[in-house]
Amino acid sequence: MQKIAVIGTGYVGLVSGTCFAEIGNRIICCDVDEVKINSLKRGVVPIYEPGLKELIDKNTAAGRLLFSSNVGEAIEASDIIYIAVGTPMSDTGEADMRYVKDVAKKIGEHLNGYKVIVNKSTVPVGTGELVRQIISNHRKYPTVHFDVVSNPEFLREGSAISDCMNMDRAVIGSTSDKAAKLIAELHAPFGTSIFQTDLESAEMIKYAANAFLATKISFINAIANICERVGADVTRVSEGMGLDSRIGGKFLQAGIGYGGSCFPKDTFALAHIADQSGYDFELLKAVIRTNDQQRLLVTDKLKQAIGSADGKRIAVLGLAFKPNTDDMRYAPSLSIIPELVELGASVRAFDPIAVESAKPLLPEEVQYFNTIEETLEGCDACIILTEWPEIVSMDLLKAKRLMKETVLIDGRNCIPQQSIQQHGFTYHSIGRRPVN
Ligand code: NAD
Repeated sequence: MQKIAVIGTGYVGLVSGTCFAEIGNRIICCDVDEVKINSLKRGVVPIYEPGLKELIDKNTAAGRLLFSSNVGEAIEASDIIYIAVGTPMSDTGEADMRYVKDVAKKIGEHLNGYKVIVNKSTVPVGTGELVRQIISNHRKYPTVHFDVVSNPEFLREGSAISDCMNMDRAVIGSTSDKAAKLIAELHAPFGTSIFQTDLESAEMIKYAANAFLATKISFINAIANICERVGADVTRVSEGMGLDSRIGGKFLQAGIGYGGSCFPKDTFALAHIADQSGYDFELLKAVIRTNDQQRLLVTDKLKQAIGSADGKRIAVLGLAFKPNTDDMRYAPSLSIIPELVELGASVRAFDPIAVESAKPLLPEEVQYFNTIEETLEGCDACIILTEWPEIVSMDLLKAKRLMKETVLIDGRNCIPQQSIQQHGFTYHSIGRRPVN
């Protein structure tokens, strides 16, 4: 049993802290956001993540999982300190490191004995060393030692608990074998393989992995755009490609591009790191450009189908950047819906979970509905932006009766082609062969 403080109780800190508690450790999840911590203390989970509430309830009841807004106290009471604060994109594209630096200072001020400081946030190469320096400079007791480890997080929102409990591998980078061994042992109950390396390589693995996945997405989206022009079907193309074990079928679903809290900011950050190092990462810059352009296809296809959007009633199904999350960071809906409003459309929106997080980020003209049916009523077109299961399996016969015009723009290629054909929709997807 280890005594661990997880600093930053967001998507990553809360999930990984809870999973570390689940395997028998005593965890204090702490955050400067008192509202968040107070709601967690009352048993209210501030984010939507399937299975998380049950696991938090179980571990708080067992006394293994605690919440605190007193970060200093949590540091003093723990032997392992996880840093899991945000590293958002700054105006210039690089990772904003202010929260990590604040935490490092705090750790220095409260370092009351040997501790292992583990960085879980996604951070530029060299951050481990930066954290070490800041802690040293702010150390209250100069004779007290500490080690720094990089242990990047790879969980996906929407399946975060299972990703954490069954992780593919734990990447552990450190200059100290003793500290790396301790963090490897901490992961033993997960039954995962350990990939031990140096600090800098561990930090780079996270960015390289995300950039590679983003590249797969932009690549298949570019192929989809060519498929449309030459009469091929990208769904079949990606299936056929994915059967090659060197390629694999994952992250080859064409659509309106990636969003979320990681890929957009991490690709920008890596391009920035490359620039700083004197390397022009042209390939990654093209990946980012391709992704930006992909979102524009939705309004292009809408115009193609209905002409001007001015005065038209448009249903938008799905607001979150992907299913099973309420996370709206860099969701395609955030750029597509304002554009529709700008074009004069009256937008009716539906999302099973993300409406409350979306509302403050979208134009106030947008109307929200609790069901797909209400949303579709009298619409001239329907646009799918997130492939939530209830959207994928919506009743197309009912939809046809409710809508004024049966135009469907499927930004996620998620509606079965046969049902479309059967119900006679005017259907536009991304790179799939037209069905009627
Ligand atoms: P988040 O924004 O959901 O949470 C960050 C939390 O840190 C917030 O609650 C904030 O209040 C808190 N915080 C900020 N400064 C603090 C301080 N000085 N002391 C204590 N708490 C502080 O962020 P997230 O999505 O959990 O991401 C955290 C890190 O993990 C990022 O670097 C991200 O890139 C990385 N990551 C995220 C995911 C993901 O799917 N969200 C996956 C892998 C890695």
